[in-house]
Amino acid sequence: MKISVASGKGGTGKTTFAVNFSLFLNNIKKNKIVLVDLDVEEPDCHIFLRAINSNRKKCFREIPKVNEKCNLCGKCAEICEFNAIAVANTEVIIFPDLCHSCYACIELCPQEAFNIENIEMGEIHWGIITSNNFYFVEGKLKIGEVMAVPMIKQTKNFSIEKFGENSYFIFDSPPGTSCPVIEATKDSDFVVLVTESTPFGLYDLKLAVETMQKLRKKFGVVINKAGIGNQEVYHYCKDEKIPILGEIPYSRGIAELYSQGRDIISIPFIKESFRKIEEKIINLV
Ligand code: SF4
Ligand code: SF4
Repeated sequence: MKISVASGKGGTGKTTFAVNFSLFLNNIKKNKIVLVDLDVEEPDCHIFLRAINSNRKKCFREIPKVNEKCNLCGKCAEICEFNAIAVANTEVIIFPDLCHSCYACIELCPQEAFNIENIEMGEIHWGIITSNNFYFVEGKLKIGEVMAVPMIKQTKNFSIEKFGENSYFIFDSPPGTSCPVIEATKDSDFVVLVTESTPFGLYDLKLAVETMQKLRKKFGVVINKAGIGNQEVYHYCKDEKIPILGEIPYSRGIAELYSQGRDIISIPFIKESFRKIEEKIINLV
């Protein structure tokens, strides 16, 4: 089972939900629970887990490097849809920050004038947290590295290869609706969209819903800080027949635990809320 936790914008409580839902599942499931932080530009699950992952693996992405066979014909610059190549009078210039490693230039160069160069883009960290059944994986981009998608892809593939298909994966996705979110959610059995019942929350939820509909994903909504804002998110979900999986109420107790970086599953109504959310997900998958 693979569940992605996403949100149309940052600050909705997506990571809080992903971390606490994983801890909750760890208490009730026999499966291995694997929480994977795919918010590779700013991973922060480790803060809530107090995780120190001693296992580390460097990650690389491949970019083309021109060799002496090049006759400066200019075809590669025409082909590259990301404008990552410029052909000048005396040389071909590659812009690694723009290169999506699609290999089009390498495949289509008439002179076979490209080699492949590996550049380091970040690291995967992993380890066991709290019990022998709870595993945590984190993808982290190097400072200055801009290509999140290949880092997300490698972190996800690594997790699945390492911990096996029978594990219960929770992918904490990057916020937003662009390519990194699509990469983080596209292979999941179900996507949980975390939102708030405010006008901003609704606006971003609509964008996230459109993205999930285009990807033909099964998804449902968790409303965080329920009780603040208005009823618009509820009306929208009802009109669009989008299942509301559950709510995490706005409460002083939660805010205090959150500010101390502690988990919230010890609160009885949270445990009950997560139990219902899990039940609904199982029925919808
Ligand atoms: S397509 Fe090949 S030969 Fe032509 S400019 Fe690019 S690298 Fe050089
Ligand atoms: S690999 Fe793709 S993105 Fe990168 S330079 Fe070549 S054509 Fe452009």
